[in-house]
Amino acid sequence: MRYEINNNCIACGSCAVVCGHNAIDTGYSHSQIKDISGKQEFGDPFIINNNCTGCGACLAVCWPGAIEEVRVNQIT
Ligand code: SF4
Ligand code: SF4
Repeated sequence: MRYEINNNCIACGSCAVVCGHNAIDTGYSHSQIKDISGKQEFGDPFIINNNCTGCGACLAVCWPGAIEEVRVNQIT
């Protein structure tokens, strides 16, 4: 099982805290600059990398519903 993060992500960071596999990368490339300028905007969506084991722990804590199950090699 694989997961990916969609645009509902508000960059709260909860998923990264619970992920025990270092599989969630932050999307801070733009938000760090915005923070310095004083604007309060949500950060870029987080990204799940290839370390993901599909354990599902992140899914349980993502209250905005931004983490989706991705079916790979699914036979249709
Ligand atoms: S995917 Fe969900 S839990 Fe993770 S940072 Fe985005 S909103 Fe927060
Ligand atoms: S499914 Fe598990 S390993 Fe994959 S990103 Fe979520 S918490 Fe990390």
